[in-house]
Amino acid sequence: MSRRKLVVGNWKMNGLRAQLGEVEAIGGLARDYPAVEVGLCLPATLISPADGVKGAAFIGAQDCHMKESGAHTGCLSAAMLAEAGASWTIVGHSERRQDQGETDADVAAKALAARAAGLKVILCVGESLDVRDAGNAEAVVAAQLLASLPDGAAADWLAIAYEPIWAIGTGRIPTMEAVAAMHAALRAALASRIGVEAEGMRILYGGSMNGDNAAELLALADVDGGLIGGASLAAAKFAPVIAAA
Ligand code: PGA
Repeated sequence: MSRRKLVVGNWKMNGLRAQLGEVEAIGGLARDYPAVEVGLCLPATLISPADGVKGAAFIGAQDCHMKESGAHTGCLSAAMLAEAGASWTIVGHSERRQDQGETDADVAAKALAARAAGLKVILCVGESLDVRDAGNAEAVVAAQLLASLPDGAAADWLAIAYEPIWAIGTGRIPTMEAVAAMHAALRAALASRIGVEAEGMRILYGGSMNGDNAAELLALADVDGGLIGGASLAAAKFAPVIAAA
């Protein structure tokens, strides 16, 4: 099954209006590569201003609350993010699982809340270095994926991002063999839950992906795109990753 490559920048807690020029430039790159689905998951404050300059890129959020509304000071609902101009959101990024203590059940609930508000979802999973060194990363991450997977998971609104925690922002990546084995294991885990729907679901790689390693990663059979942090902050650095897809 052919899966359209999905290349998404995750700006994390970076970006003020002064950086909207980069959003505009990346939106222009997206126009140059229509075969690739390109997006930027921005700080919530930039979603609305980015809407006018996004070109052919989509704008996404980095998290949403699991409830529709209520007494949750400082939080944003999926409907708020959609209204601001987001069409996607990340859920379950390891930085939120660690910093905010988000559980697998929280992540599944957030994915469902996003879906209910019309947002597409990138659901992140990945192992710690201890787990990788212990040699059972595939089993652990597959279990994390199944525990985080929302009901009704389908390829038209959900993508998975495999992000080894120890590869995020470190310049280190797993071997190509390890990435290939993990993505195959995650697709098998998906198939055990959602059957043939798993064939169409995009599984992205994330963690120190950049212009130097993107082509090799994206050539792997079950790697359907990337979730890119540092190398997505400037169009000049993001361009070779998009081109490699
Ligand atoms: P990185 O971040 O590309 O800077 O390693 C990826 C991510 O955390 O999504």
